[in-house]
Amino acid sequence: MNLKVFLKIFNISNKKFANTIGVSPVSLSRYVTGERIPEKKVLNKIFLQTSGLVDANDFFIKKKNNEYLSSEDIKEIDLILYRLKNGSRKDLAKAITLIESSLEKDKLRANLLLSKLKEKNKSIRVGITGVPGVGKSTMIESLGTLLIKNGHKVAVLAVDPSSKQSGGSILGDKTRMEQLSINTNAYVRPSPNQGHLGGVAKKTFHSIRCLEEFGFNIIFIETMGVGQAETSVYDMVDIFLVLLLPSGGDELQGIKKGIIELADLIIINKADGSLKKQAELTKNEYKNASQMTAKSRIELEQNVLTCSSIENKGIIEIWNFVEKFINLSKEKNMFFKTRSTQRLKNLWSDVDLSISEYMEGNFKKKKYIKNLTKKIENNEISLTEASNVVHEYLTKKKFD
Ligand code: GDP
Repeated sequence: MNLKVFLKIFNISNKKFANTIGVSPVSLSRYVTGERIPEKKVLNKIFLQTSGLVDANDFFIKKKNNEYLSSEDIKEIDLILYRLKNGSRKDLAKAITLIESSLEKDKLRANLLLSKLKEKNKSIRVGITGVPGVGKSTMIESLGTLLIKNGHKVAVLAVDPSSKQSGGSILGDKTRMEQLSINTNAYVRPSPNQGHLGGVAKKTFHSIRCLEEFGFNIIFIETMGVGQAETSVYDMVDIFLVLLLPSGGDELQGIKKGIIELADLIIINKADGSLKKQAELTKNEYKNASQMTAKSRIELEQNVLTCSSIENKGIIEIWNFVEKFINLSKEKNMFFKTRSTQRLKNLWSDVDLSISEYMEGNFKKKKYIKNLTKKIENNEISLTEASNVVHEYLTKKKFD
């Protein structure tokens, strides 16, 4: 890590650090600007005092051009942010696209942009999951329309890649959330394109921050209940809703095992016409079952409601429950506690993601690593030996 960045992140003044490592403030400022390279003894002290975060390489190895942002890039990010805060949807979309991008340069831009955002705590983040066809979009459309009428600003993010979704992405398929898509107080973000290297769900946490910065106060995060995304989404929302069909048993629902247990609220949708009776039966079944399972994250019993999204029935009751849940969670002092735990979890999943992106995109292509993998394929060295080499490489900068 660059020394200047280190001192900035950890709020250490040049003067204080100069004192700690026993050099004059003038010398230190030369090291910081790169005008001078510290001598070996000083490099050692810097290494020790920064717990290994700043080492000799940070002074000797000049970074490649694409590891830095140009002043135009920095200006562009400032402009995107300024416009985003002032209501430009185009810039909101640009920001989210940067966050989702896996290009190195975009990652740097996204990092800069995100470093300028402070988390807002006024929003309500709602996760909604359910298999394709259960009625998620129809429900978000009715609920969202109701919320906008009550003065809220509503955003919807879909997490699963559009390739898996019949009919394509949300905006590609005009029948999905028709009303909300054109409402000025709503924003519907299409699903990420296919071809993403996983990890999109993990990046969603950052997209949420952009939406909040823009002024949306209710954010829906939608997933399909069949993949990997649900637990990630659970860890970024204040309340997690699971939509089910009016039919018996988990196995008939097609939803991934374990997801129903995560629910703070179970909703049996399509409680209308000939399915009304079955919806009530399903509700009771889940109500009885939920009494035996664990309580929700705020120790409130998991609730089960029915609704008809196309007839707009039961929608108000759903929102009443969400509000009750959020209020209770605030009263119990759990709302902000959960959010800070989530921030921490998201920090580590961000780190996991960047390490795995690095491994896939860069590390595995290195000459000696390729050589190493060949040796493993040919059974020339032991697995432990090879994995030790990789581990040593990755932890080289570790200091303990
Ligand atoms: P998603 O894939 O979960 O987003 O599901 P959609 O919202 O696209 O809905 C799938 C189908 O179910 C559509 O044809 C909807 O019109 C229908 N649908 C959605 N909600 C209801 C409902 O409450 N009752 C009935 N009868 N049909 C519904």
